[in-house]
Amino acid sequence: MKPAKKTDTIVVSCIDYRLQPHLYQAIRETFNCEKPDIVTIAGGAYALTSGDARKQTVMKDIELAISAHGVDKIILLNHQDCGKYQSKGHSFSTVDDERAFHREELSKAAKSASERFGSGIAVLQGFTTISDSGVLIELLES
Ligand SMILES: [Zn+2]
Repeated sequence: MKPAKKTDTIVVSCIDYRLQPHLYQAIRETFNCEKPDIVTIAGGAYALTSGDARKQTVMKDIELAISAHGVDKIILLNHQDCGKYQSKGHSFSTVDDERAFHREELSKAAKSASERFGSGIAVLQGFTTISDSGVLIELLES
């Protein structure tokens, strides 16, 4: 018998290699979610604010997760020291400045996802910091 194709959560996160080994554990600890679908794309939530083809790609992946896996929660993650944002000219003098910037970016991305998928789908936002011992996801209020 095949395992059930059900999960309640899809996560959109950056491709950054520093996140990947720690992502499932950090998601489990922060959001109490054992087996999320995960979309990895450069910049994470950046794709949902970019307005280019990447936005439609991510939206279609989320749509599939909702219809095929029963997802009713989207978690958007951005992270400290993200190369995608740096490539767009963003730099920060402190992690607090960086967090404040990403709070705005995540809020825009969440609005975009909420408009597309409606009020029945919760959209959560997190800012991820990276250290030698792993990653820490801070849940941001929307
Ligand atoms: Zn990144």
